[in-house]
Amino acid sequence: MSLAIYLHYPFCTNHCSYCDFYKCLIDRDQERSFYRAVAQELKLAVKKYQLEGAQVDTIFIGGGTPSLTSPELLTNWINQLRKRFELSENLEFSIECNPESVNLERLEQFQELGVTRPTFGIQSFDTEILKILGRRHNPHHSQQAVYLTNVLGFDTFGVDLIFGLPGQKNEDLARDLAQLFALDPPHISFYELTVEPDTALERMVENKQVRLPDNDYSFALGKSGYEKMTKAGYKRYEFCSFAKPGHECRHNLKYWEGEEYLGLGPSAHSFIGNKRFNGVADLEGYISSLEKGELPHLEDQSTERERITEAIMLGLRLAKGIDRVKFSKRFGLSLEECMSREQYHLLVESGHLIPDKGFLRLSDEGMFIADEIARRLIPD
Ligand code: SF4
Repeated sequence: MSLAIYLHYPFCTNHCSYCDFYKCLIDRDQERSFYRAVAQELKLAVKKYQLEGAQVDTIFIGGGTPSLTSPELLTNWINQLRKRFELSENLEFSIECNPESVNLERLEQFQELGVTRPTFGIQSFDTEILKILGRRHNPHHSQQAVYLTNVLGFDTFGVDLIFGLPGQKNEDLARDLAQLFALDPPHISFYELTVEPDTALERMVENKQVRLPDNDYSFALGKSGYEKMTKAGYKRYEFCSFAKPGHECRHNLKYWEGEEYLGLGPSAHSFIGNKRFNGVADLEGYISSLEKGELPHLEDQSTERERITEAIMLGLRLAKGIDRVKFSKRFGLSLEECMSREQYHLLVESGHLIPDKGFLRLSDEGMFIADEIARRLIPD
């Protein structure tokens, strides 16, 4: 059995205006309590789900801002993983970094600890936009972080870029992409800015302090970004994910393909033995449960139908599509049995949906409207 491990490191130095991830401001005492709780969670989860000795082939530390971590505490955590699991020789080990919070020493520490794939939240190269987003870095930090990553000879790395930014025009996106391509990242996560409820960005939009491109314009930006990335040699292997050949993120593929993963830390999701559960999104609650020896996990209450819908939606966002055999094994139903027959035929006829050697996938055009197609395919 091969397992993916996710750690949610919840600390940040500030709150970005658009962010709705679970996070809190960094406090070094609390960080120690957090890692103690994670150790306890690991121990209890391994016992409960009988994971002792499992082979781990991907680790992903997300957040929050994992690049703020205390190296000693992180080393400790990795040693605990080594004790309980067998870490694959071909381990993919990703860690999310904010460009301003890494330097040569920090990246070197990560490399020594076995990190193979730092990812950098670059988001934009426009200093004013970065300020609106509440980011602490500037374009120089991004360039420097990538430069140091190359100096250290990491095999691969990823960057995140956002489009649909306040006031963004096509030429602004083209400028951002040109600067990004100059850094030659092997992997790009290309996201549309979304206004999440109860965020500072939502208030700024409501107060008309900032104006976002309308849906049609944002759609056109996404399409133009896709075309530029394809031209620059990237392949879209998932709706938001672009990679040079061989640089796809194996960890994220596991989520999208319905493989097992154990999530540790507040708000982390897990999928083990066909069961899904989430860590509570509350650091103090998370720590105090584990101090009492209880796993702070909430069982996923979604119905089988909701899970099928999710598997179809996630699968259609993958360029290779949904694996029919895996799908039937997991749900005991064929893919067609879970879809509207009429819509299926219409979409195949229009060329948006392509039955392809054991997979069902979207055409390049269909990929732009993946969510809409999934909604049409799944009967009410
Ligand atoms: S650094 Fe990341 S997790 Fe922290 S507030 Fe900003 S976007 Fe959210």
